[in-house]
Amino acid sequence: MDLSIRFRREMDKGLGRDTNPTAAVKMLPTFVRSTPDGTEQGEFLALDLGGSNFRVLLVKVMANGKQEVEMENQIYAIPEHLMRGSGSELFDHIADCLANFMEKFGIKDKKLPLGFTFSFPCQQTKLDESVLVSWTKRFKLNGVEGKDVVSLLRKSIKRRGDFDVDILAVINDTVGTMMTCGYDDHHCEIGLIVGTGTNACYMEHMRNLELLDGDEGRMCVNTEWGAFGDDGSLEDLRTDIDREIDAGSLNPGKQLFEKMISGLYMGELVRFILLRMTKEQLLFQGKVTAGLLTTGSFNTSYIFAIENEKDEEGLASAEKVLRDLGLDPSVEDCITTQRVCQIVSTRAAHLCAATLVAVLRQIRDNKAAEKLRTTIGVDGSVYKNHPEFSRRLHKMVRRLVPDCDVRFLQSQCGSGKGAAMVTAVAYRLAAQQAE
Ligand code: BGC
Ligand code: MG
Repeated sequence: MDLSIRFRREMDKGLGRDTNPTAAVKMLPTFVRSTPDGTEQGEFLALDLGGSNFRVLLVKVMANGKQEVEMENQIYAIPEHLMRGSGSELFDHIADCLANFMEKFGIKDKKLPLGFTFSFPCQQTKLDESVLVSWTKRFKLNGVEGKDVVSLLRKSIKRRGDFDVDILAVINDTVGTMMTCGYDDHHCEIGLIVGTGTNACYMEHMRNLELLDGDEGRMCVNTEWGAFGDDGSLEDLRTDIDREIDAGSLNPGKQLFEKMISGLYMGELVRFILLRMTKEQLLFQGKVTAGLLTTGSFNTSYIFAIENEKDEEGLASAEKVLRDLGLDPSVEDCITTQRVCQIVSTRAAHLCAATLVAVLRQIRDNKAAEKLRTTIGVDGSVYKNHPEFSRRLHKMVRRLVPDCDVRFLQSQCGSGKGAAMVTAVAYRLAAQQAE
């Protein structure tokens, strides 16, 4: 069956009250009800955790009608052992980084509103309460699943005792991306990430969100489409190699769609294919090297270089990468490697197109619009850095929904700014209520 139709059914299942408990695609309510209207103002802190970098940001939103935003931001390293240790250590580290940042910018004595971009599946009951469903990607920490990450962060800040913040919102990175782009383009109602992981959110009608009371207006839904297939519904499309990748991952059996697409796995997919072809005497004269056998040795960024549109440069990159793995490639080996990269990344783009098209059709049907005009805010290292990924994605989307006028808008400052925007909106609404 058409993959896009298949995913649309998964969306329905996640949205339905009775079907949600057994749905693989959770369609999580985010409690974000509106995109920025431009009247927001103030100074906000934001944290961005879960992508390729951990960042702290200070965002000044000016309500001068020009939608101007000033930003300071700092990247902090998260050492590997903190990604797989105990949760409290990670949150203590986050609090330390925040303290360092506030010191640096001379704001440690202010109690600023803070928004937290936390890029993992969370069950929310309100904007500032977010219970982690499960870790994904590179993270696996004890004592956090099933807990509210806002409480954990507050506890770590209290333990230090030398500064305070007002945590107003927790959002997914897809939501941050939608909000960031939404500030510049009011048609933006979808947020898409193709980076370390993959996921999308969109503005859904409350009447379709059976898990929540109320039929008025819209709310952003975090689809968590990375979990598509976790109930076995993609078995006909998954290959032996997909199964090997999953078996060797931190979360076997979970995020099966994500593992066919995103940056954390793309390089490994290529490595496994090259390894298999070598063993079958189809490459490198059948000589396997230690480099080729090493987990993670084929970085996803190599694919970006190897697929360089100028063939010679791409092939030269392929040769260099293969030599660094201890191999002695012929010209044919380099061409084959480039072809393998193209196949893996094209599959990823087309899989993303299929799910994205399901979201577009849902929005179109909700609006009963004949021709939908909409904007998709996008972020993520694969989308941004792969030379062909975005073009292939756009092309396939437009082919599948020729009746939709879709604009793809690359998020300029990432999902962290979005957390500040959500916080700014929450702050504005709270101020209005207090009046
Ligand atoms: C997470 C999502 C996130 C996506 C992109 C996935 O692994 O489950 O919450 O949006 O990665 O960062
Ligand atoms: Mg991110």
